[in-house]
Amino acid sequence: METIERIRCLIVGSGPAGFTAAIYAARANLSPVLYEGIQPGGQLTTTTDIENFPGYPEGVSGTEMMEQLRRQAQRFGTDIRNGIVTQSDFSHTPYRLTIDGEKTVEADALIIATGASAKYLGLPDETKYAGQGVSACATCDGFFYRKKRVAVVGGGDTACEEAVYLSHLASKVYMIVRKDYLRASKIMQERVMQSQNIEVLFETQTVGLFGENGVEGAHLVKHKGTDREEYIDIAIDGFFLAIGHTPNTKAFPDIATDEAGYIVTDGRTTATNIAGVFAAGDVADPLYRQAVTAAASGCRAAIDAEKYLLEKGL
Ligand code: NDP
Repeated sequence: METIERIRCLIVGSGPAGFTAAIYAARANLSPVLYEGIQPGGQLTTTTDIENFPGYPEGVSGTEMMEQLRRQAQRFGTDIRNGIVTQSDFSHTPYRLTIDGEKTVEADALIIATGASAKYLGLPDETKYAGQGVSACATCDGFFYRKKRVAVVGGGDTACEEAVYLSHLASKVYMIVRKDYLRASKIMQERVMQSQNIEVLFETQTVGLFGENGVEGAHLVKHKGTDREEYIDIAIDGFFLAIGHTPNTKAFPDIATDEAGYIVTDGRTTATNIAGVFAAGDVADPLYRQAVTAAASGCRAAIDAEKYLLEKGL
């Protein structure tokens, strides 16, 4: 019979939460194993410079920060592996996790740090033009739109950041904002307003996309449902989504979430509804969603896991 590997502290996810949990768990001799997930390094690898992480007065690129965190976790002995947790069974201890739909491992303590994924509007055209002009990551795909026209959907910090980034590459950037204001922080709003080639279309929604070979334009509606309702088309080559994220909890249906899908922790700690399972980072954070808060919750989750293992004598 095949023996199932038993892991003392299993960490799922490789963003700032996962790697910080790994650093702390490794230094506490919990022999952590970390599965990197779908996007090694997490969302920060798709961002531009991180300017608000304490200790980097000049800023740091997302990929560089993640590489440093990875090296730091490895330095203390974290076993970092490629793979995605696809299923979980919390009906008995040690808990069972399926990796990539085939391999099973057992874990005494589990830290879920799977982050969140970009949301789409749900238009059939987003699927039709996937990889042909539709993207949810300006820093990944912006390069293809040099001297072209693009649109960014959303009015939050991400949308502003992406619009400003794209404005340095593209000839023209539209921001499609459904409300009559930007939700983003003041500093990001100012950057948008200072960009010569960004045009913000307030109170505007996307109805569909069109184009023969990839995206060539978008059908929009302004002031929907009012007597000023107006349908317009804009010519664009790229359509970027920046309307928020969905927490990645699919593999953990037994873990309690709120109505938006974020894992519920007990507040004072990172404990979930299942003993020995802890959650850190964006997967459990509808409020702050910052690199620094994710890192901090990863630290808390590792300390919580250590305490749990000690109390259980594991
Ligand atoms: P947010 O939730 O803050 O903003 C989402 C935006 O998308 C809103 O403008 C929202 O509109 C719009 N939106 C949502 N759904 C739809 C839809 N179906 N159709 C049209 N528009 C839609 O998400 P972000 O990703 O921008 O930011 C998440 C968090 O990360 C925030 O806390 C932010 O501050 C932080 N962040 C910080 C950065 C920094 O400090 N440098 C950089 C990036 C993010 P509405 O306002 O109408 O709801």
